[in-house]
Amino acid sequence: MAGCVFCKIAAGEIPASVVKRADGMLAFKDLNPQAPTHVLVIPTHHLASLNDAKDPALLGKLLAFARDLARESGLADRGYRVVVNTNPDGGQTVFHLHLHLLGGRPMTWPPG
Ligand code: AMP
Ligand code: ZN
Repeated sequence: MAGCVFCKIAAGEIPASVVKRADGMLAFKDLNPQAPTHVLVIPTHHLASLNDAKDPALLGKLLAFARDLARESGLADRGYRVVVNTNPDGGQTVFHLHLHLLGGRPMTWPPG
């Protein structure tokens, strides 16, 4: 979608540190990491938020992609967190659906 930062990253129009790309999914490092591993996982096709993701298969693929990446990054045994901020109360600031994959340190609960 025109003007969407993550669409531009998916199209290679602005730089990002890409970790993995496959099957309509892309993972790249967060610009402002909150943990030793902080990767964003997006569908390359634009969807504004979780509210707009009508296809359960796509959501399953997105989650499995993040889970596989966690395993490949050596995070699976120690653990990690997957977060989907949704709309303003959820803390979403970029309106292209994304999962945060966070790991490499113990997480606290509840989140802020
Ligand atoms: P959220 O608040 O859930 O919408 O998360 C948006 C995330 O995108 C934040 O953690 C930002 O640090 C990250 N971010 C914004 N712009 C970029 C970019 N150009 N490259 C990588 N990460 C970005
Ligand atoms: Zn987009």
